[in-house]
Order: sequence, then C-alpha cells, then structure tokens
Amino acid sequence: MRLKKKFNGMEIMKKKIAVLGITGSIGESVVEIVKYHSEVFEIVFASANSNLKKLQSIAQELKIKNIFLTDSQIKIDGVGKATDLIRFIENEDYDILINAISGSAGLPYTIATIKQGKDLALANKESLVMAGHLVSDIVSKKGSKIIPIDSEHSAIFQVLHGHQKSELKNIHLTASGGPFRTLPYEDFQKIELKQVLKHPTWDMGTKVTIDSATMMNKGLEVIEAHWLFDIDYKNIQAIIHPQSIIHSIVEFVDGSMIAQMSIPTMQLPILYALTYPIHYPSDKIKTSLESLSALTFEPICKKRYPLFYLVCEAGKIGGIMPTVLNAANEKAIDMFLQGKISFVDISKIVEESLNKFENIENPDLDTIMNVNEIVRK
Ligand code: NDP
Ligand code: MG
Repeated sequence: MRLKKKFNGMEIMKKKIAVLGITGSIGESVVEIVKYHSEVFEIVFASANSNLKKLQSIAQELKIKNIFLTDSQIKIDGVGKATDLIRFIENEDYDILINAISGSAGLPYTIATIKQGKDLALANKESLVMAGHLVSDIVSKKGSKIIPIDSEHSAIFQVLHGHQKSELKNIHLTASGGPFRTLPYEDFQKIELKQVLKHPTWDMGTKVTIDSATMMNKGLEVIEAHWLFDIDYKNIQAIIHPQSIIHSIVEFVDGSMIAQMSIPTMQLPILYALTYPIHYPSDKIKTSLESLSALTFEPICKKRYPLFYLVCEAGKIGGIMPTVLNAANEKAIDMFLQGKISFVDISKIVEESLNKFENIENPDLDTIMNVNEIVRK
C-alpha cells in the first residue's frame, strides 16, 4: 500500500522515482527535493556515468537499492552497467523516471522509458533536440507523459495547464543572457574559461553553463519547446530577461500574457514535475517580491549570440541537422575545456559543421546516434 497523504481531497501516493544522472547538478536538486519531501517520494534506482563515490554516498543516504554506472570502462561488483540500466528501465516498477543525464548520451534512455509507456520528467533537452519526431511518435503511441524539468518549459507547462491549444498564440522563452551580455564585443576574443563558468543567475553543470554563455542553450530550448508543446517555430520567441525571475511567458490569443515566476532554482520545476498536475504544498522555495528591484527585457543580439540563431535555423530545417549542430557543439565544448580552442571558436566550429553535412529527413535512432558519433570525430 503506497497511500501516503491527502491533499485537497486528493490522495497523494508515495511516488517511486528513478533518477538518471543523479550525481550532476540537476541530480543534486532532485536529491534535495526527495529528502525534503520524503513523505511522498522515494528513489528506487539511480545512475551516474563514472562518479562511483558520489553515487554510493547518495545511495547510502537515501537507501537506494539499485545503482548503475554507465561508463563502459568501469566494472564494479554490486553496481549495474549501461545494459543492466536499460533492462531495469524496461522491467522495474517505478512511477516516473527523471532523465538528468547531460548531452546526447541521454537519448537512448529517454526512448527506453517512453517505450514502456512510463512517465518521464525530462531535463535532458538533447533527447528532444536530436529525436523530437521519434519521441513524439512513441509518446502518442504508448501514452507516456513527458513533464519538462527545464525551467522555461516547466513555466510554460504550468501556465498551459487547463488551457486548450487553440487559446495559445505565442510562447516567449526567457534567457538570462549569460555572463557576457554587457561585455564589449571587442573583448570576446580574450574570454577565459573561468569567466564562462561564472553564470550571473543560475548554478548549473559545466556544459549547460557554457551553452548559456553562447546562448546555444536557448536555441536548443526553442527546439525542445517545438516538440514538447507541438508549436510552430514562428510562434516561439525568446527574449533576454537578465534577472531570471520570470521563467517564461505564454501569450494567449486575446493578447493576455501569463508568466511563471520564482527565484532561479531548479528545485521548483523538479517538484512540479514530480507532483504534476498539482502544486504540492512546500515551504522549500520562497520568493520575496520586495527583494526584486526590476524585471527587465531586451532583444537577443545576433552578433553576440550567433549560435542562438544558427540552432533555431537547424531546428526549422529539422531532420538530422539539430543532431549535427548539437554534436559539433558538444565536441567544441570538450575542446574549449581542454584549452584547445577559444570561446569564439565554439560558434565557428558549429557553423562549419552545418555546412559540412547533408540533411537526412526523418532519421531513425541508429542513424541519429551514428551521425552523432561521426560529427564528433
Ligand atoms: P551535469 O554535468 O552536472 O551532470 C550530468 C549527469 O549525467 C551526471 O550524473 C553524470 O555522471 C551523468 N553523465 C554524464 N555523461 C554521461 C554519459 N555519457 N552517460 C550517462 N550519464 C552521463 O549536468 P546537469 O545536471 O547540469 O544537466 C543535466 C541535463 O539537464 C542537461 O541536459 C542539461 O541541459 C539539463 N538542464 C540542466 C539545468 C541545470 O540547472 N543544471 C537546467 C536545465 C536543464 P557523472 O557524475 O558520473 O559524470
Ligand atoms: Mg533552461
């Protein structure tokens, strides 16, 4: 019997949660929320790529019985491998799986989960960037639900709840603008890694922090929104909102705009993803309106953030192109982290990749994963 709480006359069951990428930044926020609301959440299995120490310490603290390391080089007694993890996703009893793996590696796990008709709380935006057409198809056939964790998409998802699609006119994704919003453009050549990693409003994993500085992240989020909400690209706008308080805005057909707000924390979208369709009572996250001075907006400068426009273009072309750009960007970031290229080279490498590859319409999963490897090479 898993009945645990009553809220507003509704019975809240204790949810059995699977967490992939539990050792990362999103993973840490998931652990915080699960610990804070242990009356309604329990983690039944969890994965990391290679960080055994952290995985074991989380598992011990939260009494997680089954843990997995997906790095193929690592074999440890009592810890499952990537193939065991897929088998678990296919056979284990759980209510929702959180995919918080970073990058293209997350896609096969998204597919495995939704193929079972299971609910998926999705942080791994790359799954939709690379294979939105496959994911949408499987979801509609198997009846699984995807609940977004990305804060902008969670905002839209929350605002849209209870509305018809015909009421929707545009969605406006907000972006912080990252650390270089006001840096003179002449100084971009001299940008160092430590400056890139100092995000003004969000504390996130390395890859997504770099993507926020180039605004590649916002381009990926436009594609993510297109697939999640089944909205035409022409109805998806993005705007810089440096304070990161308004997480996104829905514009309805009557001209009304409804926004979702809070301090910048991933814990809130995670909590909502786990308790959807209700807002569960929690005093974990508090936003003081008095502490907010101003909420401002500005357009996205093409010269400063070329990757944003390039990725949106790849999204509109569709097919294999978003995978090509995503893989080129992942590889360019690896090279930037190794000190082999400069910050401005990231966008140059991504742009070159777009010109080097022919499009493939409607690619299947094998083609997507193959092209992902080829581009990286
Ligand atoms: P992190 O880099 O902090 O964590 C990544 C997690 O994925 C770790 O647990 C890591 O394991 C695991 N992992 C890394 N590579 C692989 C692989 N090849 N196969 C399987 N697992 C792997 O990332 P974030 O938590 O920042 O981001 C996760 C996802 O969420 C990304 O898609 C990101 O875009 C998205 N997102 C993140 C936000 C944030 O605030 N951080 C906000 C919105 C979206 P190990 O520790 O062992 O390396
Ligand atoms: Mg986001």
